[in-house]
Amino acid sequence: MIPFLNLKAVNEQYQTELKIACAKVIDSGWYVQGNECNEFEKEFSAYCSAKYAIGVANGLDALILIIRAYKELSVFKDNDEIIVPSNTYIASILAISQNNLIPILVEPNINTYHIDIEKIENKITSRTKAIMVVHLYGQAVEMTKILELSKKYNLKVIEDSAQAHGAYDNKKRVGNIGDASGFSFYPGKNLGALGDGGIVTTNDEELANTIRALGNYGSHKKYENVYQGVNSRLDEIQAAMLRVKLKHLDHEIEHRRKIANFYLNNIKNTDIILPTLNNETSHVWHLFVIRTANREKFQSYLLKNGVQTLIHYPIPPHKQNAYKEWNKLQYIISEQIHAEVLSLPISGIQSIEHTHQIVEIINKYKK
Ligand SMILES: *Cc1c(COP(=O)(O)O)cnc(C)c1O
Repeated sequence: MIPFLNLKAVNEQYQTELKIACAKVIDSGWYVQGNECNEFEKEFSAYCSAKYAIGVANGLDALILIIRAYKELSVFKDNDEIIVPSNTYIASILAISQNNLIPILVEPNINTYHIDIEKIENKITSRTKAIMVVHLYGQAVEMTKILELSKKYNLKVIEDSAQAHGAYDNKKRVGNIGDASGFSFYPGKNLGALGDGGIVTTNDEELANTIRALGNYGSHKKYENVYQGVNSRLDEIQAAMLRVKLKHLDHEIEHRRKIANFYLNNIKNTDIILPTLNNETSHVWHLFVIRTANREKFQSYLLKNGVQTLIHYPIPPHKQNAYKEWNKLQYIISEQIHAEVLSLPISGIQSIEHTHQIVEIINKYKK
């Protein structure tokens, strides 16, 4: 069986370094808010060319805390609206509604799977305060027009960069394009911890300070609480693991690009719609997502032939039980995407032999 992703093998590449880094933290006697997290924040902000980075407990918290901080700074208030793509992973939307703001779903473009720029403007109202872009599947959103719109209507731009560490739009890395950006280090992400983790990047000092306090019980100074904060921090062991893995991230991205280019150049089955690539550096290929009309048949064909695949994602947010109030609404493009997408195996270590085999199997498939 060719697995969708072999995480054990991903981390085994660095096991000597990881074990040394882990032992160093154990021996230090210091497990939260220490040197490893500080250093990782510096290294990750430098990687994105952003001024500030604040480690948090996970990617969802990164997005929640960005919005929460804008509320504390009186930029957002309850019932304000944030525009978000209707085909995103549920976390982007949860971050908005959990802050008592209103997610305004906008359909994606069927080719890029990114928010459809043409459909944003007529969703903007007097209550709209931000656009949340999602660099879905690892490709950076084309930001020029979105940044223009945000200027015109005085909107914040929040990036959900959970799937796109290292991707570029217009020579800028995600995490340094909008006003603030949330990243996830969930183990399966391109930069994955050995547990949960997340980070916010921004060039706004006041926002950075507010997020840092909010994630630490609302406190800048021990036992002095400015906000009703939460406990959301990146612990020392995870930061140490991430420091090791960040050094290898660009190399892994290069490998993913090789696999993706092989798929793009060699899958010749006309029943399969391949992903569209904006340019060479826009995509870090967290997922290689194809579309096909009879997805269930194609997926079981691949499985019978020893290829494991996954679906990102089977149910659109507006059809989820968690958002019953939207269940009767129609987002036709999202629904089509959710019915047709399938993610092929890809990783920083997938062998060329396996990739060849997968392509051969796909090219023999008949609808
Ligand atoms: C993974 C992910 C998140 C949430 O990250 P967690 O670390 O799992 O909380 C948010 N948005 C997107 C697009 C994601 O893929």
